[in-house]
Amino acid sequence: MAENTDQANQLHARRQSLTHILATSVQHLWPEAKFGVGPVVDNGFYYDIDLGPANKLSEDDFDKIEAEMRKVIGEHQPFERFEKPIDEAIDWAQAAKQPYKEELLNDLKRAGTTAAKDINPEELGAVTEGDAAVANVSFYKNGDFTDLCRGPHVQSTGKAGAFKLQRISGAYWRGKESNPQMQRVYGVAFATDEELKKHLEMLAEAQKRDHRKLGQELDLFIFSDLVGSGLPLYTPRGTIIRNQLIGFPEQVREDLGFERVWSPHITKKDLYEVSGHWAKFGDELFLVKSQETSDQLVMKPMNCPHHAQIYASRPRSYRELPVKLMETTTNYRDEKTGELHGLSRVRSLTQDDSHTYCRPDQVDEIFDELIAKIQEFYLVLDMQLRLRLSLRDNSPTFLGPEELWQFGQDKLMQIAQRNQLEYFAVEGEAAFYGPKLDFMATDALGREWQVATVQFDFVQPERFSLEYTDEEGKAQRPIMIHCAIMGSFDRFLAVYIEHTAGRFPVWLAPEQIRLITVNQEEETTKFADGIVNQAKDLGLRVKVDNSNESVGKKIRATEVAKVPYTLVIGEKEIRNGQVVPRLRQDLVVIPVQPEMGIEQFLKSVANEAKSRVNKSSM
Ligand SMILES: [Zn+2]
Ligand SMILES: [Zn+2]
Repeated sequence: MAENTDQANQLHARRQSLTHILATSVQHLWPEAKFGVGPVVDNGFYYDIDLGPANKLSEDDFDKIEAEMRKVIGEHQPFERFEKPIDEAIDWAQAAKQPYKEELLNDLKRAGTTAAKDINPEELGAVTEGDAAVANVSFYKNGDFTDLCRGPHVQSTGKAGAFKLQRISGAYWRGKESNPQMQRVYGVAFATDEELKKHLEMLAEAQKRDHRKLGQELDLFIFSDLVGSGLPLYTPRGTIIRNQLIGFPEQVREDLGFERVWSPHITKKDLYEVSGHWAKFGDELFLVKSQETSDQLVMKPMNCPHHAQIYASRPRSYRELPVKLMETTTNYRDEKTGELHGLSRVRSLTQDDSHTYCRPDQVDEIFDELIAKIQEFYLVLDMQLRLRLSLRDNSPTFLGPEELWQFGQDKLMQIAQRNQLEYFAVEGEAAFYGPKLDFMATDALGREWQVATVQFDFVQPERFSLEYTDEEGKAQRPIMIHCAIMGSFDRFLAVYIEHTAGRFPVWLAPEQIRLITVNQEEETTKFADGIVNQAKDLGLRVKVDNSNESVGKKIRATEVAKVPYTLVIGEKEIRNGQVVPRLRQDLVVIPVQPEMGIEQFLKSVANEAKSRVNKSSM
């Protein structure tokens, strides 16, 4: 373990050092460059740079900048750390004509105020603890370049490791649209050339699998300017996958005794005021105005308060608990246009949501069965899971009684251990209403995504005065447990398209079988139509390609469309009533497929779809 932490720290120091090396080189090439912040991020680093109104960086400059960076690295310039009192640091920034640094330093001088708390400690060389005013600021100097920084760095530029500049994006200074726009230059960095190469290959593969690209190629979803950004429309093919994917967690939950409910998409703001969501997320809601009443309505951003109303609609006895409600429904969030991204970040997201209201003695069983179903779901989708215990920290954002938090956090720890789940705990990641189990799924490229979640809620039962009558006739508060297996369906589909590269298993494939005719003769067409009818009776999705193209061309088209099974229909097939199915490569288990009867073939495919397998049984 210690070695891993050491390696991680070392890698962080390399990336931190590379931000300086990047800035050094940019300053050599554009002496008038102004620098914002340059933190370490996942897999690399970035630096926010402003070349002034006359100049702009472009990715075409990367060769030049990288050459200069390699020169700086080759000079093995030592990184020298020194400190300055805050006022002298401000003088330095003025003299160096670095207005962004000057602004940060002035904020830092007021440390302890709200404004200074906004400063990411990664960004600056603050040598202080807690809320005390900053006395000294640390700097690092290499060659002719000096920058504010907390460090740590590698010894000299020569030890920075392997890097590559990646891309440039626009970034407002300190994330505020009213501030000047800077250019954010991203780089990736690793200890060795080999690791860097592996990462770049992964990125190239990720680009090929980009769900926005595949979504278009496979005709799954679209966006329309007239409908609006962040509002996906699902095509017939996409809707098949959508219904199949949504149906699975619904069925899994029905097995656990969840009942379906339905709630409307607009709601009085008052509901969210009571639940506490308005205070937390008010600026993320779409507002709706009635032409008649003065009610302020909103598009619902979540469903929990609605389900709480259904629970509260009549008296509940301890005997009828747990009450289990589920609803797959669309929620609306006013995400910023600049942050929208394909299906990963949308304004209308469909959740597979559910809420359980239970007694404290039922908590274990409910968590255990939900966890088992989540594991089943991700096993079928062929994704590895890791568990994050999201706990509270000392911040006042976490609401609800102390003893319940203690109960909940202890419980989650026990549950994770009892279920033998690999887990890690993160403080400060809890929901404002309670601690939660967040499941992280690893995709085929090794990237980790947050997917399913099971959450305690100690706030809403209180705020909505939810009750049940216990054995002694006394009123008690139920415990509320939120659970989503996919989370946002849309986001999950984005992850899943990239995980599979669009090669969906048979149960999800919009088109499971394609029939290719070798000619357009009536006998051939009739024979193909007969197979289609047989397939449809078995609930299969099948299409015929009867076009006037060559068989080779038609086969290539099925490969592009990633259809699991293809049958070529010619004289021989008609005469014998036997076919040799062509399988999509990733489904193949047995290298050579034998000839088989049409009925046998169709029944096998129907079985595969029903049992949701990832490989062919043929
Ligand atoms: Zn640094
Ligand atoms: Zn909920």
